[in-house]
Amino acid sequence: MRIMVLAAAAALLTGGCDRFAKTPPVKPAPGLVALPCDAGNGPLRPHSRSYCVGQRHYVTAPARAGLAGAAEALMIHSPGTPVIYMEASWPLGRRPMPPHLSHGDGRQIDLALFYTDAKGAALPRPPTRSGFGAYEPPRRESERRCTGAEKRSARNDGKDPPADRTWRLDETRTAELVRLLSADRRVRRIFLEPHLKARLGFSNDPKVRFAGCQAARHDDHLHVDFF
Ligand SMILES: [Zn+2]
Repeated sequence: MRIMVLAAAAALLTGGCDRFAKTPPVKPAPGLVALPCDAGNGPLRPHSRSYCVGQRHYVTAPARAGLAGAAEALMIHSPGTPVIYMEASWPLGRRPMPPHLSHGDGRQIDLALFYTDAKGAALPRPPTRSGFGAYEPPRRESERRCTGAEKRSARNDGKDPPADRTWRLDETRTAELVRLLSADRRVRRIFLEPHLKARLGFSNDPKVRFAGCQAARHDDHLHVDFF
């Protein structure tokens, strides 16, 4: 679950957040392993090396195996499409891992959605510097959650992108990744905004869930929670 502090997010988007400061290597806690850090190759990659420099790329061994399996399968379904991760956990397994409510113990990870340009050509990565923040808005206002009395706090909300944005959600590749993850017994749940859950065809999938209005929007990334 990602609780986004706008100030931190703004810093993140401009690359100025000190949670990405280079930290000396730390021996990971038992059970935690590092994800691949090569941003240029392989089916499973960080959105940027800053996630590795900040040592926020540790997961449990089953989570790494599940992610690697989904990434290899997605490459077969959609050649040239890596699974791109952002925030995972610290090597010492302490949680929570701010600004998240969770993360930190290696069982949670945030993955990028897939996007196209305005003409439908696949983009290689999310169109933001951090990988977060490219929100896919609901098609109808009636599908929007967390309005009125349930409105997210200002620090947890995100703005819809402009209608004339140069990118669009790639529903096919995003849905395939959700399908692959949901089919993995190691995956406990996947957080997605309700309008995307329905649009992508997961209305009857109990693993795909709404994170609630106390959490940040989950129509710019997937939060995957492993057992
Ligand atoms: Zn998350």
